[in-house]
Amino acid sequence: DKILDAQSTAADTDAELTLRPKFLADYIGQKQIKDQLSVYLQAAKQRNEALDHVLLFGPPGLGKTTLAVVIANEMGADIKTTSGPAIEKAGDLVALLNELSAGDILFIDEIHRLPKSVEEVLYSAMEDFYVDIVVGQGETAHAIHFPLPPFTLIGATTRAGMLSAPLRDRFGIVEHMRFYPVSDLKLIAERSADIFDMSIAESGAVELALRSRGTPRIVNRLLKRVRDFAQVDGKQTIDEIAVNGALNKLQVDDRGLDENDLKYLDTLIHQYKGGPAGVNALASNIGEDAETVEEMIEPYLLQIGFIQRTPRGRQATAEAYAHLHIPYQTGLA
Ligand code: ADP
Repeated sequence: DKILDAQSTAADTDAELTLRPKFLADYIGQKQIKDQLSVYLQAAKQRNEALDHVLLFGPPGLGKTTLAVVIANEMGADIKTTSGPAIEKAGDLVALLNELSAGDILFIDEIHRLPKSVEEVLYSAMEDFYVDIVVGQGETAHAIHFPLPPFTLIGATTRAGMLSAPLRDRFGIVEHMRFYPVSDLKLIAERSADIFDMSIAESGAVELALRSRGTPRIVNRLLKRVRDFAQVDGKQTIDEIAVNGALNKLQVDDRGLDENDLKYLDTLIHQYKGGPAGVNALASNIGEDAETVEEMIEPYLLQIGFIQRTPRGRQATAEAYAHLHIPYQTGLA
């Protein structure tokens, strides 16, 4: 039932490693980001310097980790990967930094979840490539100045608002990743099918793209499931009918909405007469916490124009009513 969850699960890992683009040229979509990055990469290489620190911001599954690896490949640099919650103490961070060589990349996923004490060590590391470590206790305590090689920090976060200003300000390059349009998701479906050695019709790729919530990770996951159904049904080519049949069985609707999204919209429309309704009230009504609603449910509904954020809360749009087959003008009293 997690088929539309944009967060990575253990089951995704193998396929993701095979499907992950390695260079900017294979990285589909996000043209503006790629255009900017290719200039910065070229400039850094010409000067023989480490690339400026990069902050990638956007919902899960949009290709932030992939882009970090692409940047490393383009720079011909090594990359070390970790995440905010995995770095518990300042010493853990120092140990990671200590392993870097000049020009290497340190990727910290979920960087908004770094403990404050660790974050403070990052400031001097990012700005001037050194850390001061305090050793000893009481009267014998003293700081050791520890120089670092010039490196690039790439931070990824799903929640830009949760990042402290001093940390955010230390990133020279900040990129905001957007949900992918259907045309790009279709290309991703075709590319992945090709890597899996599957035959996919254009209509099948479009149908998959429509149901993937603007998210490459979900396209790839749905493609794998559709492949299973097609194989068992003895189909050689994945077309629109194969995609529809499989995804209907998996209860993914034609806009990529699942039970939770529909429950959210249904509550907004029926309980709150279409809104405005506060996120906390909505969340408790559907039995989710507000953070999950804000991070997992609302971004895509906002993106496809099914809800709007107003100063007084969330509001359902005419498109949402139409999708649920409820007359818009009256709503349900
Ligand atoms: P995030 O770090 O934002 O959660 P990932 O980088 O792990 O997302 O991306 C999930 C998967 O989606 C990757 O393994 C890759 O196969 C695919 N993917 C992401 N972005 C792209 C892209 N631009 N082009 C092709 N495939 C992509």
